Amino acid sequence: MDPVIKSRIERLITRSRGATRRHADDLTAGQWLDPVASREDQEMRLGSLLHHAWQHVPYYRETLAEAGVVDPSGRIDLSRFNRLQPLDKATVRKRFDDLRSDDLALRKWTYDSTGGSTGEPVRLIHDCDYADWVRAISLAGGAVACRRPGETKLYLWGSVRDLLAGQETLRARLGRWMRDERWINSFRMSPELMNSYVDFINRYRPVHIIAYVESIVELARFVERSGLVVHSPKTIATSAGCLQPHMRELLERVFRTEVFNQYGSREVAGMGTECERHEGMHVPLQSVLVEVLRDDGSTAGPEETGHVVVTSLINYAMPLIRYQIGDLGVYADAPCSCGRVWPLLRSITGRISDTFVTSTGTLVAGEYFNYVFYLQDWVDRFQVVQESTSSIRARIVPRYDLPGFAAAKEAGVEEIVKKVRLAMGEDCAVSFEFVNDIEPTASGKYRFTISRVHDRA
Ligand SMILES: [Zn+2]
Repeated sequence: MDPVIKSRIERLITRSRGATRRHADDLTAGQWLDPVASREDQEMRLGSLLHHAWQHVPYYRETLAEAGVVDPSGRIDLSRFNRLQPLDKATVRKRFDDLRSDDLALRKWTYDSTGGSTGEPVRLIHDCDYADWVRAISLAGGAVACRRPGETKLYLWGSVRDLLAGQETLRARLGRWMRDERWINSFRMSPELMNSYVDFINRYRPVHIIAYVESIVELARFVERSGLVVHSPKTIATSAGCLQPHMRELLERVFRTEVFNQYGSREVAGMGTECERHEGMHVPLQSVLVEVLRDDGSTAGPEETGHVVVTSLINYAMPLIRYQIGDLGVYADAPCSCGRVWPLLRSITGRISDTFVTSTGTLVAGEYFNYVFYLQDWVDRFQVVQESTSSIRARIVPRYDLPGFAAAKEAGVEEIVKKVRLAMGEDCAVSFEFVNDIEPTASGKYRFTISRVHDRA
């Protein structure tokens, strides 16, 4: 279609989505405020949410009063906000009814749920306006990560629910077409499919690729190992996982491009995007408050890893205030050199469900196992599952066609057992399961490491 006509249609659609545009302008202006104005702006948004929660949400009426954040007359004391007990997923399930705003009959809202990459998914209620915010955060975050409207984008994404063939609405497909997006479902990543994905990328030649970390890393490893040449996009944005330094190097090498890390979730939408300086991920203060806490609940210092606890400022139908999202993260010790006031999350260092626990209670980062397995030539793909503190199961898709496979496997198995026990303790049982494929989780993400010990905690 003629680009002029297309941009006119796009403007018409955007105009009909006035809320998205308004929120995007809010975010765009917000990142350049001065520090004092920025703090006041966020305190105002937080105060308004807390007031609503105290008035309309039974769970918070109780807990905000208990913590002294709101007094009986409704006056808010933000200096006591850090006394509010963080909300965990088990409590969200148990107190679901009490977490709903009692004015739902007057609101436009919809059910949503987390993907449930481990354990049970969490059911949520979102205001309809939340969807406008999600689009706005994607627009504003995209601009921070050097993506402009009108540039072609390829999503390597793997949500079963979002992408089941034939289940997409016409509106969703039209929207993608208008935004110059194409989607590849990374739900399955067999060699044949990965071949066809490379073909598609080479034909479509997208300006940007936006992908699940694990999926694009799998694809890059496949490209490199197969000696293929893949189109080089201007940027790759990675999301829904922890981008480790060796993964960034691999993507930069194979795709000959710049990689932008992003941090988001279904509960709280976009929580961080890297800018062109790559010093960390900017947190959009207008939509979310991200805290990093120590085990004892106190605020972690800069460059100190802790539990990520988030407060969504844009959803009143079922507010999530100081919600433990299940990730470990670390704030940077200095503002970004780009001049944006949005603070910098240095990185998300792991999911708590990726962290293994030994029989003596020592924590072992899932990343350790990535290194152990990446060094094995005979391993095509792998997944390490901790069943209990004393047993580890390694699921492996072997590379049977590797010359000298049998000997490599024999030596490799021995080495893996040794290295796993080095971290997990000599009493740890290591079992191997050789499979043809490793299925993604319900949300379509590939997980290299899963600890089931936390599920039962
Ligand atoms: Zn920056």
